[in-house]
Amino acid sequence: MVSASEFEAETKKPQVAVLSSPGMGHVIPLFVMAKGLVTQHGLHVSFLNVTTEASAAQYQLLHSPDLPSGLEIVDLPMVDLSNLVDGNTPVLTRLSLNVQESFRCLKTLLVNLNPNLLIIDLFCTQAFDVCNELSIPVYTFFTPPTHLLAFSLFLPKLDRDVEGEFVDLPEPVQVPGCSSIRTEDLLDQVRNRKIDEYKWFLYHLSRVKMAAGIFLNTWEDLEPVSIRAIRDLPFYQQIPTPTVYPVGPIIKETEPMTEECGAWLDQQPSDSVLYIALGSGGTLTSEQQIELAWGLEMSKQRFIWVVRMPSDACASASFFNVGSDPNDPESYLPEGFLERTRETGLVVPSWAPQVAILEHASIGAFLSHCGWNSILESLANGVPIIGWPLYAEQRMNATMLAEDVGVGIKAVGGRESGSVIGRNEIAKVVRKTMEGEEGKVLRAKARELKESASKALEVGGSSYQSLAILANQWKAKFTI
Ligand code: UDP
Repeated sequence: MVSASEFEAETKKPQVAVLSSPGMGHVIPLFVMAKGLVTQHGLHVSFLNVTTEASAAQYQLLHSPDLPSGLEIVDLPMVDLSNLVDGNTPVLTRLSLNVQESFRCLKTLLVNLNPNLLIIDLFCTQAFDVCNELSIPVYTFFTPPTHLLAFSLFLPKLDRDVEGEFVDLPEPVQVPGCSSIRTEDLLDQVRNRKIDEYKWFLYHLSRVKMAAGIFLNTWEDLEPVSIRAIRDLPFYQQIPTPTVYPVGPIIKETEPMTEECGAWLDQQPSDSVLYIALGSGGTLTSEQQIELAWGLEMSKQRFIWVVRMPSDACASASFFNVGSDPNDPESYLPEGFLERTRETGLVVPSWAPQVAILEHASIGAFLSHCGWNSILESLANGVPIIGWPLYAEQRMNATMLAEDVGVGIKAVGGRESGSVIGRNEIAKVVRKTMEGEEGKVLRAKARELKESASKALEVGGSSYQSLAILANQWKAKFTI
């Protein structure tokens, strides 16, 4: 219960609204940032949540009982998408339509809340129009890596200059000031320019420049080349690109470890366990899931594996309903697998406390789909990555980890190339990472990055200061 004087103090603070599109990969970093603005920087924040049909994990995160005072959650009314999407609608189109329909109430909501400014993620850019009308400044929180921001700022030019498909270009795409992108690594949303998925991507990403500033979920030492390019190169200055503020790694706070995972991990030696998880929505084909199971078993390494019902149709099948799907591993893993790996492995259906697991001393590597949050969580805990990209920009991320940062290995083949990664290849990569010299080098690099991430976040560190400077400006301008 808030007292009258506490209420009055809250209303005098700058009022910030934070608006996230659905999906844990967006909601988590924006929510953690919202909390930080309240607890570390003394602002009042309303977190606007675009609700989806059935994300139990998203609901639990936002409606936990221990929200700090000064942070309130506002659920936008659920919308009916049944006439607009079906089971085959790709993820960004579905998400963008969900946002579009939910935003029918945005103007009224913002008029009532009357925030001093709004922070949105990159797929809520319809909010620029509403906020323009209401004269509310809008900042963007760019949830993916900075090299994707550089690509996105370059995309309108690429769209004008290239006829035909980008994936058919004879050479890799040279984004100004950044590593070139091999056409096979290009993100899903730009691989077919004729479909709505591309149009939505271009729509949102070409509007990012309308922001008053762009928060980056990275830190200066992780992506120095792309950050410097965006700040300094004439190409980006001419757009003009808003000021970028690296404020990361902003990752999920440690959630309680589950009893089952904690007890099992406590029994394992340091650096000995491979953690396997494919983000909030990643799913494998039935055939690939079986190969992965066999590969793990053949590698004879310890593992903890978050398993989902396989889907032959879609690599992001669980994106909107994670934590809600029925899941019986016996029904889709190879017969006898659970029994045979009982000593070395733990299988967790659907969802696990990822950050708590990555923090555990027994974890030696992470086989990840290379969603940006998973990468940040891994690096912030000094854990190297076996990249197993599935969708969105994950192939670019996996390549960057392996080739630019030197903290990952990329599994070869896979869903996007239409091929299956075989059990022998899997067993080899897992052994190399867990036991080989290469694994040791990767772990050393990961530990170095853990140090530098933690320095960036300390009071006075580069990421902390980035946000503090802006929060102080807002306080000076908007405190009543
Ligand atoms: N996550 C988790 N438990 C799981 C799977 C995922 O806590 O079993 C969290 C993970 O910690 C991360 C987020 O879900 O914060 C996934 O975000 P990411 O950007 O890696 O991938 P996306 O889901 O957007 O593809």
